[in-house]
Amino acid sequence: MKFFFLSILFFPVIAFSSLDLAEFESCQSSWTRQEIEERLGHFLQKDGKVGSFFSLNEESLTLYDAPETEKERKVAYKLALAKEKKERGSQKIPCKTLVGVKVAIDPGHFGGSYARLEERYIDIPPSLEREEIVQFDEGTLSFLTATYLKLLLEKEGAIVMLTRDQIGKGVYREDFFDWLKKNPALWSGEVALNNLFRKYYNPLDLRARADKINDFSPDLTLVIHYNSHDAQEGVPSNHGVTSKNYNMVFVPGAFCRNELEEEESRYEFLRLLLTGDLSESIKLSSVVLAKMSERLQVPVVTKADGARYLPQVCLKVSEGIYARNLALTRLIHGPVCYGESLVQNNADECINLNRKDFVIGGQPCSSRIKQVAEAYFEGIKSYVLD
Ligand SMILES: [Zn+2]
Repeated sequence: MKFFFLSILFFPVIAFSSLDLAEFESCQSSWTRQEIEERLGHFLQKDGKVGSFFSLNEESLTLYDAPETEKERKVAYKLALAKEKKERGSQKIPCKTLVGVKVAIDPGHFGGSYARLEERYIDIPPSLEREEIVQFDEGTLSFLTATYLKLLLEKEGAIVMLTRDQIGKGVYREDFFDWLKKNPALWSGEVALNNLFRKYYNPLDLRARADKINDFSPDLTLVIHYNSHDAQEGVPSNHGVTSKNYNMVFVPGAFCRNELEEEESRYEFLRLLLTGDLSESIKLSSVVLAKMSERLQVPVVTKADGARYLPQVCLKVSEGIYARNLALTRLIHGPVCYGESLVQNNADECINLNRKDFVIGGQPCSSRIKQVAEAYFEGIKSYVLD
């Protein structure tokens, strides 16, 4: 079903194994300066300093390998611009069913025995307001959501790939502890295991996830996460509750300072600027977000919720949809929706998620997970079939 994806790109680019900027030759003289400026400002350029990596005039966009303060910098890519805007409407071929549509799903984190190490767990002790102990972890929730979503999609004929196949396991070829043994220099001083995991090992695992997804060449990708929100002062979100509950989704973009230094990042930046990947990610993400709000009866995040990272590192695309330069929004090719449903440590939601009133893949869990999977499913359906 690869044609479905290729047909919706404005300028299909062929997937090379190594990242070659020559892939964008088909985009020469296709965009006007005004269009490029709009795309840069709306979705791609969070930090003005990123702009020092390129120059833009009526004739061309020139991308350099270093900021303008470097005297010796070289031209990385030069794109000729069009004088007049070209007709570009969506070329998406409407599908009548999900049969043959390739969907990649990345259940975020590891969960299970890794949940403490990756610091993605909720553990709230009983209190006067809450008699029960609330204990679960995000990696397990995301895995069970993905597992149920896979069932729903496969029932309708989609071809589904999950990046990881069990709770407590990532995608990188080596287990964390085997990898640690081979890299003793990293822990020769006094370093906490969770720091080693988050700083060194997790980036390897995220890259392995992106590679696995790109090798599969999906028509669309979902990255599934559950959110948390800072609890009251001095209590980490793992152990304290909040009154906030909301949904949000991330799409690619919002490159910040220094984020064009790597050759690979410049490739991804150009891909997002010149292909339909970003606009399709926004279309997919808006329908998924709408279905989340509807099905879960939880609103879209607002400014008043005070999630600090939104103004700091994201660009707002529309209500609840933010461009954010995360490893997976940047590295995954094609339409991608990075979902952050529900606030796990919300006072009521933590009770919902802690329930064991449903079973997925033989594992007792909350029926709330089923609802989240159904929201993603309905979102995918309306994106593909609409
Ligand atoms: Zn997460």
